[in-house]
Amino acid sequence: MVNRSDVHYFGAGPAPLPTNVLEKASQVLLNYRDKGIGLCEISHRSPEANEILAEAKQALTDLLEIPDDYDILFLQSGGSGEFSATVYNLVAIWVEKKRAKIAAEVGDDREEVLKRLRKVVDEELKLDYLVTGSWSLKASQEAARLIGAQHVNVATDARKANNGKFGVIPPEDQWSLTPRTSGGGPALVYFCDNETVDGIEFPAFPSSLEGDDAPLVCADMSSNFISRKVDVRKYAVIFGGAQKNIGNTGITIVILRKSLLPPHSTPASPDLLRQLNLSVGPIVLDYPTIAKNNSLYNTLPIFDVWVAGQVMSGLVNTYGTKRIGGQQEVSDEKAHLIYNTLDKYSDVYRVVPDKSVRSRMNICFRVHGGDAGKEKAFLAGAEKQGLLGLKGHRSVGGIRASNYNAVSLEGTEKLVAYLEEFAKS
Ligand code: PMP
Repeated sequence: MVNRSDVHYFGAGPAPLPTNVLEKASQVLLNYRDKGIGLCEISHRSPEANEILAEAKQALTDLLEIPDDYDILFLQSGGSGEFSATVYNLVAIWVEKKRAKIAAEVGDDREEVLKRLRKVVDEELKLDYLVTGSWSLKASQEAARLIGAQHVNVATDARKANNGKFGVIPPEDQWSLTPRTSGGGPALVYFCDNETVDGIEFPAFPSSLEGDDAPLVCADMSSNFISRKVDVRKYAVIFGGAQKNIGNTGITIVILRKSLLPPHSTPASPDLLRQLNLSVGPIVLDYPTIAKNNSLYNTLPIFDVWVAGQVMSGLVNTYGTKRIGGQQEVSDEKAHLIYNTLDKYSDVYRVVPDKSVRSRMNICFRVHGGDAGKEKAFLAGAEKQGLLGLKGHRSVGGIRASNYNAVSLEGTEKLVAYLEEFAKS
């Protein structure tokens, strides 16, 4: 039998969780707080469930210093579901704003309002995507599937700047963002903060998305959530699946600017969207509905929320006033250890992305120029030492060491020692 303590797991997600949380989880699954029933069995509307939900929100708020004018939602959509949810929700808000403006000019003539609105939608509705890796590519493709490719503006496609492959983030002055004219501009600007497959992370928030007339920025933080400081105010929507840094698969967390919710913003009605040939999203992805119901519109997997809450409260207790900055220091240190070793043996290892955009979370590299036999040998040797989950994503191959929060410094050091040993062999 292989014990948990015998291995270090570097999988890209699902990913390792703190052992103390899992030990406690096995108990609460059987019997939560001596009630005689387990956490998967109690009602999501019970006082216990409400407390779990409130604690998880509080821990996330503490870690990321989320301001009061932001809401936290829990959904079950996965990161992929949020590719769709961001589109449905922000397009509906954009359309309603345009409708209200036209109605203010035209008055009660509904036919005339609809006629003008159709023209505005046809000519002006744009969603900007920064395509820097496989996941932002998928998100942009989902937007095109939902509302039509003519409305999707790929403001940058990193492959075009790198011989057809992901590996760089083109300079901002080369992006073709939809112009922000007064009252105009894109319905959203979307980017993936950390590309899990390609090992690319935005080093900082793009400065061209800042300013008084900043667009509504949506960011996918699935694979670098709670690993570094984030200035939440710069974003309209931040989302991420729990299954990397936060918890087990099952819940998706959305941090949302409250001004995007009623009464501050109203989405266009389903009838109006249908008249405009725009798609209407499922109710379980509707942010106003989920927010109004404190994420309990339908049955929320409370056990998953509990795990996430335990992980996040653990970080709050560990790092105190440093908040997520404390985790950032540890994450950066572990990533440096690995990258330094890869760079030291550059005749054996080649880091895939450009140095300026290397991910701290997913370290993607090739062994001996991608020689299939040597990469196989690398993985087999690693496995013998209990270093698991290092195979690169099936679409790109190579090696990927994921450096999520629950990967210990000890595990990282073991991996570094193996990288040294293999390079010298
Ligand atoms: N975005 C990123 C950055 C991801 O890494 C993933 C999954 N690995 C997704 C989105 C999709 O998430 P899910 O599988 O939960 O739909």
